[in-house]
Amino acid sequence: MIKAPIYKTMDQRSSVDSVSEEEKPSLTEERASKIYFSWSNNEMEGTFHSQLNERVRPYLDLIDSLRLMGINEDLALPAIAVIGDQSSGKSSVLEALSGVALPRGSGIVTRCPLMLKLRKLSERAEWKAIISYKDMTTEFTDPSMVEEYVNAAQNELAGDGVGICDELISLEILSPDVCDLTLIDLPGIARVPVKGQPEDIGDQIKRLILSFIEKSETINLVVVPCNVDIATTEALKMAQEVDADGKRTLAILTKPDLVDRGTEKNVLDIVHNRVIPLSKGYIVVKCRGQQQIQEKVSLVEATKRETDFFRQHKYFRVLLKEDKATTQCLATKLTQDLVDHIKKALPTLSEQVKMDLWNSRKLLSECPEGPPSEPQQKKAYLVDILSLFNENINSLSAGEVVNEENLFIILRSHFQRWSDDLQCSQASFGKMMEDVGKEYDLKHRGRELPGFSDYKVFEIVVQRLVMKLLGPALDTLKIIRETVQAQFIDISKMCFSTYPFLDCVAVNKIDKIQSRQEAKVEERIREQFEMEKLVYTQDTIYLKSLTKMEESSPVNWADFDTRNKYPEMFQSYYEIVIQRLADQIPMLIRFFLLKESARVLCSEMLGLIEGVDLEKALCESSDGSRNRHDLLSRIERLSEAQEKLSRFI
Ligand code: GDP
Ligand code: MG
Repeated sequence: MIKAPIYKTMDQRSSVDSVSEEEKPSLTEERASKIYFSWSNNEMEGTFHSQLNERVRPYLDLIDSLRLMGINEDLALPAIAVIGDQSSGKSSVLEALSGVALPRGSGIVTRCPLMLKLRKLSERAEWKAIISYKDMTTEFTDPSMVEEYVNAAQNELAGDGVGICDELISLEILSPDVCDLTLIDLPGIARVPVKGQPEDIGDQIKRLILSFIEKSETINLVVVPCNVDIATTEALKMAQEVDADGKRTLAILTKPDLVDRGTEKNVLDIVHNRVIPLSKGYIVVKCRGQQQIQEKVSLVEATKRETDFFRQHKYFRVLLKEDKATTQCLATKLTQDLVDHIKKALPTLSEQVKMDLWNSRKLLSECPEGPPSEPQQKKAYLVDILSLFNENINSLSAGEVVNEENLFIILRSHFQRWSDDLQCSQASFGKMMEDVGKEYDLKHRGRELPGFSDYKVFEIVVQRLVMKLLGPALDTLKIIRETVQAQFIDISKMCFSTYPFLDCVAVNKIDKIQSRQEAKVEERIREQFEMEKLVYTQDTIYLKSLTKMEESSPVNWADFDTRNKYPEMFQSYYEIVIQRLADQIPMLIRFFLLKESARVLCSEMLGLIEGVDLEKALCESSDGSRNRHDLLSRIERLSEAQEKLSRFI
């Protein structure tokens, strides 16, 4: 399956053949070579190659097609994520694996997650790459353009400069010279922000990395240079945090040529899993150093030199035999790991797809159905939704609880407050009586002695007291109009949630009708108050009230006062006024603002059926239709995924 861009020509074969006896590949290495390298036995290689391909490709293709379908929006798919501190050699490793020059440099170069999909093509096929991000997809055929395209994508997503972004760039490379692998390159872990970076850039990067490596579906490829203290590397620490047993962590030791003299044995200890054990273990690779890049050593040449380096290395030579060194070995191991990982993940993935499918279908069934497409059915549909709206409005006005808030509880509390205002107004009777009495004596008194003008004074007092209540009555009206209007609007929002036109029409109508009704009630209230100035009640009613009053508190003649001699008589009458207003105002309000306006609203809404532009009325809001469309496409995606998965399980 692995076919790096190397070991192809007879020249190379002879150069390898010419190595000394001691450096000849070991048996295992030779076997590996036969499988993966064209320079060994060509015929053997061919058959092995295709067999392996047959075994590996379908799994990689499966995951790729799932990813292409957008399943990774719903579920985590198996992938390999490359993490490491800045300048640890991540890009170099990716470059060696892909045979593609990626953006490299000092500081932060990788600023967005980059999904590198390597797809092997048949021998004669042309190199091709497809870069996609957001809704953009570009195809190109010049390998030297990769860097430019990736940089442009990064600049667009993360802005020019040194910021990072968590949107994925996908770079698919199709070539006869790559191995089948999908890798995700992540920004390097930076410790100190550089100029222009936010203070928390380190945390931002860590969070981004974590979002990939914490998924149990991800194989974490941790890149650590040989020349640093491995135990202190942040990347390995992070990988250990999310994968304590190291079951899905593979460490890559880079820069073996830069290892400090005398510490080679320590490196070997690490590779032999004796320092920080990882079940997937370690692999040492040597990539192009800065000098080799400057000398323009090709990737092909570099990979050849890598093998030579290990063969000739006094300490690291053993690693070749153990399949723990070279980029080739890494590629082989990675592909196999990825396939194993995928195989292991398939049953769970299939379960998840099933669950997700079930949930999505359930959500869809709860989703309001869209309007039908047939014009005739559209009308019936409009009648249905308008009737539902009217039903709700009528229920509300009849006192049923339709929304979260119980309208009648709110109304009752406002009416109670109105009744309290009425009761309180009684208290100012004494003072008012005195004021009016004085005023009357001053302006109107004729020949009578002071205090003999009682009835007139009494009338004025009642009139003034009552008029003071007009304000609170109108306030009550106003606040109830707001409450009722809000609840009507709630119903509109509920019933026409996906039909903005209908909602808009209903809200406008509600406002207009309520204004009209409010004006009517206001007029009636004012009339009522004008009528109260008449100071009238049936004699029988008045006398009944007076008797009741005197029974409960007989007149104490000792308290007899010229200005206050008939408090009971006043009170008896005022009690009747209070009773009248206490009921009358709420009844007016309820009748006009709730009952009548509900009736008018319902009939106006039904009136829409004739004459309204059906297309316009039933035009769904993007939210509503998007929700259903999202669900539909998700269900389609998932069903297709389920279909695909079922062929593998
Ligand atoms: P990244 O920041 O992790 O992507 O690191 P790079 O891949 O850009 O590598 C950082 C520097 O280390 C570059 O100058 C590489 O040329 C150099 N480098 C990477 N691997 C090796 C290696 O095996 N040996 C030597 N000598 N230099 C290497
Ligand atoms: Mg890099």
